[in-house]
Amino acid sequence: MASAVLVLNCGSSSVKFALYDPESRDRLLNGLAERVGTPGAAITIKFPNAPLTISDLDQTDHHGVLARILDELEDWRAEHDLTITAVGHRLVHGGEEFASSVLLDDEAMAAVERCSPLAPLHNPANIAGVEAARAALPDIPQVGVFDTAFHQTMPPVAYRYAVPTEWYADLGVRRYGFHGTSHRYVSSAAAELLGRPLSELRMVTAHLGNGSSLAAIRDGVSVDTSMGLTPLEGLVMGTRSGDLDPGILGYIADRTGATLAEITNDLNKRSGLLGLSGLSNDMRELIAAVETGNEQAALALDVFCTRLAKYIAALAVPLGGIDTLVFTGGIGENSQPVRARVLEQLAFLGFELDHDANERTVRGLSGPITTADSRAIALVVPTDEELVIARDAHRLASTTTSLLES
Ligand code: ADP
Repeated sequence: MASAVLVLNCGSSSVKFALYDPESRDRLLNGLAERVGTPGAAITIKFPNAPLTISDLDQTDHHGVLARILDELEDWRAEHDLTITAVGHRLVHGGEEFASSVLLDDEAMAAVERCSPLAPLHNPANIAGVEAARAALPDIPQVGVFDTAFHQTMPPVAYRYAVPTEWYADLGVRRYGFHGTSHRYVSSAAAELLGRPLSELRMVTAHLGNGSSLAAIRDGVSVDTSMGLTPLEGLVMGTRSGDLDPGILGYIADRTGATLAEITNDLNKRSGLLGLSGLSNDMRELIAAVETGNEQAALALDVFCTRLAKYIAALAVPLGGIDTLVFTGGIGENSQPVRARVLEQLAFLGFELDHDANERTVRGLSGPITTADSRAIALVVPTDEELVIARDAHRLASTTTSLLES
């Protein structure tokens, strides 16, 4: 019987799942449960030949949804002679507790709980997912893969904020960084593509999706990043502001009477490209609007690209220069105008755009988008966070199994 790894990404009202073949690394199927915990809960399973939607759930919480997904997969797994040998969970915040992926035993779960105040919207939903998976598959190893773990190699000079020390010591206020699974994957894939060891590369990876962040990578480890205690810091994003003067919070509260929670919500949900353009958080729509002369959209695109270029250049400091820049995420992989503008603004760092290569490189393609003579190389590498989770889960599960057998 062949083995399959189940990858789970549980949010408060959604469960994304996928099954991977750990040997071939192929994704066998995937799906999504939405409106989890409400009477409208529904599951879609994208079976290769006949996608299935289920909306008659008896129990709509994470436990009920996951049990039903596994139930529905039963026949298909039997038909393909597959057995689930590991479950990999995407976990958002590992605080200072986790610097790599781990087997989720009781001790590890207690540490994930301790990190919940750092991500009160995400960690409790992630924990509910792990508990549901442990209940449904009690004998199968569960592995946690954290968004923050890859950045635990940052030195204090990168992660400390200039705030009262007790905020750090007592409350954990520091930069943690996110998208670590993506930064880890694309940095090693880029080195492989270039045929050079990571130890030779001073690399910036730019994960540009609805949320966006940068990582500065030296010797294959993260030495700085643009996101902070939360994913609100740094670049301009779809609906998040990124960096701003913290004095703005008090000013808006005084002028409007808004609470801190309301202002934080506006900075997360009504700012970024959406706030600036008044039109959309979607880069495709904005670029289409710019082409029809929409000035607000043009401003949003300018602020997005200029903030990005400034931040990439800033990461030359911890790296002592930049020789490799990697674009990934929905925007990084697909948006030629964003990549072109950023590289044009970074020409002083030695990036020379290859217009044709840039135009060609979309939809899952990887490769350089700078000229052969360019002093610094920019390249596109499609990210695959689910695959990393599947690989880590398989590796850690195999280690425990062989330990138990020896
Ligand atoms: P998430 O962070 O939710 O995983 P994605 O990585 O899918 O998001 O990125 C979403 C962003 O990618 C959106 O702004 C979307 O407009 C952008 N995007 C996707 N395809 C294209 C494209 N062909 N051209 C420009 N932007 C694109």
